[in-house]
Amino acid sequence: MNIVVLVKQVPDMEKVKFDSERGVVDRKSAGTEINPFDLNALEAAVQIGEKIDSTITAVSMGPPSAKDALKECIARGATRGVLVSDIKFGGSDTRATSTILSSTIEKIGAYDLIIAGEKTVDGDTGQVGPEIAEFLNIPHGSYISKIQEISESEIKVCSEIWEGTYLKSIKLPALITVTKDINVPRLPSFKNKMKARKAEIEVMTFKDLEENLGADKVGLKGSPTKVKKIEVPQTAKREGKIYRENIPQAVEKLVDIFEEKKVVD
Ligand SMILES: Cc1cc2nc3c(=O)[nH]c(=O)nc-3n(C[C@H](O)[C@H](O)[C@H](O)COP(=O)(O)OP(=O)(O)OC[C@H]3O[C@@H](n4cnc5c(N)ncnc54)[C@H](O)[C@@H]3O)c2cc1C
Repeated sequence: MNIVVLVKQVPDMEKVKFDSERGVVDRKSAGTEINPFDLNALEAAVQIGEKIDSTITAVSMGPPSAKDALKECIARGATRGVLVSDIKFGGSDTRATSTILSSTIEKIGAYDLIIAGEKTVDGDTGQVGPEIAEFLNIPHGSYISKIQEISESEIKVCSEIWEGTYLKSIKLPALITVTKDINVPRLPSFKNKMKARKAEIEVMTFKDLEENLGADKVGLKGSPTKVKKIEVPQTAKREGKIYRENIPQAVEKLVDIFEEKKVVD
């Protein structure tokens, strides 16, 4: 079975800064990691591979540094990594991103199952998976929290939405997006770490996809979404004080603070 796993390298959201003037995320302001939901997607693929002989191709669209994320995918059980990267792709919104990723998947060749995370922790739209399925004209199931059964031609999956649990049977080829409840991602094994160290990440550029992808479909030109403004909510600064002696006086001070902050009358 040919499985494609979609993986996005995201900034560490605890540390990243926003450029409010340009309306963009300053991706250089923090370290990066694999989007956590994509680790669940990869683990789902590796577990399928343990039942049905599979090739697992991890695909990422991003800057050259995303090669590190793909190497980590190999260390966690992927067979190969493909990076799609080009200066022309800069400024792509979810529609352009999905267009580029679906062209990449078509270029890679035959696929039976595509697995994506339910969303990313930076963009957080949850649009890319379903959009790719629409562009490829294949069925998709979102928010999958369990794979009940899989064969060469069909996958049976559960999704929990609101109060209900839905059991869906989807004909392959198909795309699913998975939640964090589907599994606990395994850590890289020593053997796979060694394999990852030697692995060559394949790189595709606009030129490789050009026959199916016009320049007007990628980057800012291919992006109907325009960011008008970006605002960072102010976070309240925490203050701390420790009283070690004279507890009755400390309690009095505490009550004064509560009254001042209108926590008590
Ligand atoms: C006008 C505009 C300009 C933008 N310009 C830039 C820019 O210059 N540079 C930039 O980095 N971002 C840019 N973005 C953000 C970019 O569009 C999103 O990061 C991208 O479309 C993914 O959306 P998301 O993070 O909401 O993914 P979601 O839809 O929440 O992701 C769902 C799943 O899809 C898969 N997926 C998503 N993105 C990728 C990817 N890149 N590679 C592989 N799999 C993926 C993952 O499995 C993920 O879990 C821009 C956005 C807008 C609106």
